[in-house]
Order: sequence, then structure tokens, then C-alpha cells
Amino acid sequence: MALVRDPEGLGAELARALQEARTLVCACARCGSITTRDRDPCVLCVSTQREGTQVCVVEEPSDIPLIEKSGGYHGRYHALMGRISPMKGVAPEQLRIQALLDRLTQEGFKEVILALSTDVEGDATASYLADLLKGRGVQVSRLAFGLPAGSGLAYADGVTLSRAIQGRNPA
Ligand SMILES: [Zn+2]
Repeated sequence: MALVRDPEGLGAELARALQEARTLVCACARCGSITTRDRDPCVLCVSTQREGTQVCVVEEPSDIPLIEKSGGYHGRYHALMGRISPMKGVAPEQLRIQALLDRLTQEGFKEVILALSTDVEGDATASYLADLLKGRGVQVSRLAFGLPAGSGLAYADGVTLSRAIQGRNPA
């Protein structure tokens, strides 16, 4: 037991590991999910096993593993890095919305699934995106079914989230 024998040595080792993780970890340049510098774009972006015609739009990179764990979705992802919030001074230009439009053209998505929070700001962001995507030849849908009102994805269990994806509604 290194911890018992040499607690200080273990501390130094942990500190070194954390430092190393900090320099290795980054946000995927394409989808925004958490990845490592040697895997950017990340596995989710480059995997040929995934459905390349669907993109699931989330607020935060931390929402991606939640959807992955639910097992109900196998397409690409796009993290906005927040949501529109006039109260907090977050305008659409501050989010990764242009990057989403660019990917739409480059990757040829057929369906955009909005997996945003079910509160006022999530709703506002979803309506903004639905309007923006109108007439661009993509089907836009939104998770609604079964998600607790006024909450984010983090509050939904895997089964609920998976059902919410399957039962998505046109936005
Ligand atoms: Zn990615």
C-alpha cells in the first residue's frame, strides 16, 4: 500500500498525474466534447460506426456522456457551450451557433436534435435555433417527452433520456 508506506510520494504522484491530465485534455474542435489533444476531433466525431446524418445539440460538453450512457442515440454531437440568456447577458453570438451552421454544410446533416434544458432559457435557445435552421433542408426535433420540466439533462436517468430521444418532437 503506497498510501500507507509513502503518503507524500503518492501526493506528488497524484499532483503530477493531474498536471499531465490538464495539459492533455481539451475540447474537441468540432463538437466541443471533452477529449485529449492526440484525439481532436474526438472519437465521437470521427467514428464511422456512428450515424453521420444526425447531430444532437447540447448546452454543455458534460451533457454528451449522459446521452451516450442512455444508449438511445448514435449520431454526432454539438455542444453550444451554454445557452441564450438575456438575464446573464449571453447572446447567440457567444455560443457555438455559427460553428453548428458550418458543420451543417460541411457534414451534410439531415436531422438536428435539440437536447436542451426544459426551462425558459433552454426553450428560448431551442426556438432561436429552430427558426435559424428553418429552410436549410434539415429536420429539427426537440427532446421533450418524459424530461422533468424546468431541468437539464443531468437530472434525467438513462432510460428517461433514451425515451426522450426516441420520442422527440418536431421543433
Ligand atoms: Zn468531437
